[in-house]
Amino acid sequence: MSQSQDHLFGVYNRAPVDVERGEGVRLFDRSGRAYLDFVQGIATNGLGHAAPVLVEALTKQAQKLWHVSNIYRIPDQETLAEQLCASSFADQVFFTNSGTEAVECALKLARKYHAARGDDQRIDIISFAGAFHGRSYAAVTAGGYEPYLTGFGPRLPGFVNVSLDDPDAIRAAAEAPTAAAILVEPVQGEGGARALTDTELKRLRELADANGLLLIFDEIQCGMGRTGKLWAYEYSGVEPDVMCIAKALGGGFPIGACLATRDAAAGMVFGSHGTTFGGNPLAMAVGLAAFGAISAPELLDNVQTVSGYLRQQLEGLKQTWPDMIDEVRGRGLLVGIKLKVNNRDMMAAARDQGLLIAGGSDNCVRMLPPLNLTQDEAREALDLLEKAFAATRAAAQAPKNAPKESV
Ligand SMILES: *Cc1c(COP(=O)(O)O)cnc(C)c1O
Repeated sequence: MSQSQDHLFGVYNRAPVDVERGEGVRLFDRSGRAYLDFVQGIATNGLGHAAPVLVEALTKQAQKLWHVSNIYRIPDQETLAEQLCASSFADQVFFTNSGTEAVECALKLARKYHAARGDDQRIDIISFAGAFHGRSYAAVTAGGYEPYLTGFGPRLPGFVNVSLDDPDAIRAAAEAPTAAAILVEPVQGEGGARALTDTELKRLRELADANGLLLIFDEIQCGMGRTGKLWAYEYSGVEPDVMCIAKALGGGFPIGACLATRDAAAGMVFGSHGTTFGGNPLAMAVGLAAFGAISAPELLDNVQTVSGYLRQQLEGLKQTWPDMIDEVRGRGLLVGIKLKVNNRDMMAAARDQGLLIAGGSDNCVRMLPPLNLTQDEAREALDLLEKAFAATRAAAQAPKNAPKESV
């Protein structure tokens, strides 16, 4: 087999792990080496690798029906939509294949909402520094992250990116006659596991209400049980008008969804939007199985308990390793660790010890283990992380001009 990445776009900085198979929290490479996987496809495999309940749903469905597009009724789509609505603020759902497409749908919905009410001047999507919403033109414009925008031509009109720490700018953007919606992650993922405070979220809800804007939550990473509640917004009591989900919704199968109140979705009438693959029978069979398992109270309880343990232990490590850990952040099993040493180096050092962790902005690493993680597995990860700290400290203390090999 070819070992070259020569025929792939060079857009990724892939870690040198030749993945072959996975089982629960563990990932195995082609040489049989086992890793403790605290990335899980970036918070996507909520039930770990090859969860039997998902394998069964997928293989059963694979023998019945794969795809018909959305020209016929798909019963599982109706069932999953009903379950998502019953468990959230929402009344209606549009299924997509990815998080980005769910965001795209939400942004189109927001503008259409105002246009349908006779106000097509309202197009501005207000979003925040440190956000990540995906990689389409609209999503990178909303994300506002410079490196993802340069070289791709003019930015799309109708996007305002402000700092969460600048209430005056947020207010001014919301009060503009062109404002349409506020888009925010209740817990920023890629931005370094920053959880917004309840007060910040309440403030956004008030601004949206006072100015007739839609409030859109991007729970693509922080939703689906990741924080220990099914939806991250439940902690604050603040409900959105629209919510984007994906990642763990399919437990590793590509699915996304845009959820909305009936009122917010009022403009999304026949012909206004569509997708070939979104919500196809394979995706819906797996989605139903994943949602059933992840919305179970025992699983959400497990996230609370195990994340409580993991966080308490990490706070302890912050005392023992003050030269490594700056701050422990995030919520539930969306764990961010802001480091004092380079985060990319730490990811490599952890990998050398057999622990896979994700990166994040603001010099963070993230731990995004499966939601059914056990305390023993959490302990194992902490031990490997300490070994990585020890190796990093030793390397930093080694005399700079010493010969590499002293034999
Ligand atoms: C991953 C992610 C997206 C993009 O989802 P894709 O499936 O990669 O398109 C959007 N928003 C957030 C918060 C994410 O974590």
